[in-house]
This record gives sequence, C-alpha cells and structure tokens, in this order.
Amino acid sequence: MSEWLEGKVVENIHWTDSLFSLKVDADIAPYSAGQFASLALEIDGERVARPYSFLSPPQDKTLEFFFYTATDGVLSNALYDLKVGDTILVKNPANGFFTLDEVPASRDLWLIGTGTGIAPFLSILKTDQPWETYESIILVQGVRTQSDMQYLDLITGLREQYGERFGFQAFVSREQVEGTIQGRIPASIEDGSLEQKVNLKLDVAHSQVMLCGNPDMVKDVVELLKARGFAKNLRRKPGHITTENYW
Ligand SMILES: Cc1cc2nc3c(=O)[nH]c(=O)nc-3n(C[C@H](O)[C@H](O)[C@H](O)COP(=O)(O)OP(=O)(O)OC[C@H]3O[C@@H](n4cnc5c(N)ncnc54)[C@H](O)[C@@H]3O)c2cc1C
Repeated sequence: MSEWLEGKVVENIHWTDSLFSLKVDADIAPYSAGQFASLALEIDGERVARPYSFLSPPQDKTLEFFFYTATDGVLSNALYDLKVGDTILVKNPANGFFTLDEVPASRDLWLIGTGTGIAPFLSILKTDQPWETYESIILVQGVRTQSDMQYLDLITGLREQYGERFGFQAFVSREQVEGTIQGRIPASIEDGSLEQKVNLKLDVAHSQVMLCGNPDMVKDVVELLKARGFAKNLRRKPGHITTENYW
C-alpha cells in the first residue's frame, strides 16, 4: 500500500531561472538508485502530483531532486517557489524499474540523458553497484546552454575516484562550449563522433545503454542502436537498451 508522507524542504537551490534542485527530508522506505518518487503539492485546492527521479543515492538520508520548470508547468513552477521548511508530499514507497537490477552485466555501461534526465544516473554512480559490475562507464548529457550543466563537481569527483574507468561527454545544442560537442546526441551516435570523442565503441558484444529524459532523444537513439543490432531489455529476453521517458 502506498501512502503520502509530509516531507520538509531543507534546501532549494536555484541554479538558473528554470533549473533548480530540492533537498527534502522525508521518512520514506529504502529505494534503489534510478527509481523515482511521486512528489505533490496542494495547488488551488487540488493535489498535483508528478514523478521525479532521485538524484541522491539511497545511502543519503536527505533526498535530492533536480528539476526543470516546464513552460507553464503547473507543478514544476510551484516547486521552484518552495522555501526552506515548507511541506512537500512524497509518495511512499518509491517506484520504478530504471535500475541496474534490470540491466544485464557487460563490459561497458553507457548512461545517456538530456537535461534533468541525468539525475538517476548520478544516483546510480554514487553507489558501488555500477563499479562492481562494469569496467567502463560513460555518462553523456545533452543540454541547451552551458548554464544547464550542473553537478560538474560531482562528475569531476567521480573522474578523480575512478580515473580512466569513467568518462563524461556533454552536448550543448545552443552554444559553443569548449570540451563539449555542439549538437544533438543522436546525430553524434549516427556519425560516430561520440564514440570517437570518448574513445569507446558502442557494440552489442560489450555495451549496455540506459537512456533517460526527452522522449525524442530516447526514441532516436533506440532506433539508431536497433539498426546496429541492439535490442531493448525485456525481463523474459535480455537485450542492451533500458529507457525512461520523462514525458
Ligand atoms: C519517471 C519520471 C521521472 C521524472 N523525473 C524528473 C526529474 O527528475 N526532473 C524533472 O525536471 N522532471 C522529471 N520528470 C517530469 C516530471 O514528472 C513532470 O512532467 C515535469 O516536472 C512537468 O510537470 P509540470 O506539472 O510542471 O508540467 P505539466 O503542466 O505537466 O507539463 C508537462 C510538459 O512539460 C515538459 N516537460 C516535462 N518534464 C520536463 C523536463 N524534465 N524537462 C523539460 N521539459 C519537460 C513536456 O513538454 C511535458 O509535456 C519525470 C517524469 C517521469 C515520467
């Protein structure tokens, strides 16, 4: 049985006018990295709830979420305005199958997300499980502008901790930023430039791919990978691709 718990906002970090993170204390049951919680507020007398991936790893007591304020988005814009000490409803227990328990072991793990779709990957990367299961891990994030790239300290820390086993590649679509690829992730998989930049091949023999965020990116990458022999992971038939669409 699920229930709504009252959580308390302990921090609201406004990275930009449309990007923010909430840290929340709520007494929820243990969850797995990659899962999401439904968060809700009472807005004009109505409970408005949406799913949000945990960015925090399960071992952290305080929960952390990373948000984009959707244009005219009812809940995301209301969450942006929350103050420290405000109440937020959190559905207990957490939910979702976008976890490493659903992904077969292999040599390489590719974690590809757009915008806030990087959140479940940061949660996963702060647990031991990926590092005990995969030799090389590549994190890829597509954003519009450089200011959409947050959590770089965390990413740099992973690089320092795991060295050559961990690679990060950012895509910035609307600006030219040193070290990033300007453009879209699917185009770069199609022309081979992503693999060249991170010096690792996407191939069915060695790669597992998790995709999260914008459904157009997810769909386009799935199609490109399928053309290269990849298949979606199904419980009854393991493949190589695991997806989470944010809308
Ligand atoms: C499993 C799951 C996990 C999710 N995790 C996150 C998360 O960690 N962070 C997060 O910001 N959102 C996440 N979302 C999306 C989130 O649930 C809401 O859809 C989003 O916050 C918009 O809600 P809203 O009420 O503000 O807008 P609504 O009025 O419901 O408008 C929805 C529209 O907003 C746009 N949109 C939705 N999400 C995003 C986004 N992340 N970036 C850009 N545009 C978007 C789409 O065009 C969508 O049609 C997740 C969705 C799912 C299904």
